[in-house]
Amino acid sequence: MNKTCLCKACGKEFPKGEIHQFDSTIRGNYPSGMRLALCTPCMLRQYRSSLLAFKGRAVVIQPLPQRPLKRVLFMRVKPFNAYQFYPLNLMSTRDYNFSQEWIDAISKYFPSEEARCKLCNARAQYNWCSPDLYYRSPFDAVNTSGNFEQEFLCSNCLADRFSKIVCREGLYFDEVQPPVETDGMCSSFEV
Ligand SMILES: [Zn+2]
Ligand SMILES: [Zn+2]
Repeated sequence: MNKTCLCKACGKEFPKGEIHQFDSTIRGNYPSGMRLALCTPCMLRQYRSSLLAFKGRAVVIQPLPQRPLKRVLFMRVKPFNAYQFYPLNLMSTRDYNFSQEWIDAISKYFPSEEARCKLCNARAQYNWCSPDLYYRSPFDAVNTSGNFEQEFLCSNCLADRFSKIVCREGLYFDEVQPPVETDGMCSSFEV
């Protein structure tokens, strides 16, 4: 039996596995955001409009490919089925539990206030980084050498890059959070 789900924006019906759980409240940290089940085009549109509204800066690590569901003992593991935003000022709290060393290392990769978009020369709020930033695993350490692909991008050019990967890799997120309110980091994760 195939379960289906309605996209809350366009109202069309999709298989349950092809719906994203979009959350711009960042698990309730910013109540002015919203939580919506969205199809891919609607999620990408919403993600872009969140980027355009965002005033801060972010280190955005390219989403990792999602491997098929696997079972480990009795647990179902869905590798990298989430793409989350971590507000810098919350990263050391118990909810997130990043070490100060990790936070300091990431902070070195924020674009400066004067940074310009590599593609269109608008203000660049984002550093779009290869997952080699953390050796292709958010559970690893930050690569402090800076020796990996990085691009300073504006909101629109970042949204283009993000959309392209999501569509090309056929990614579906059980949790997807855009950057909101404050400086932070975007990364693949598992939920
Ligand atoms: Zn839709
Ligand atoms: Zn641009």
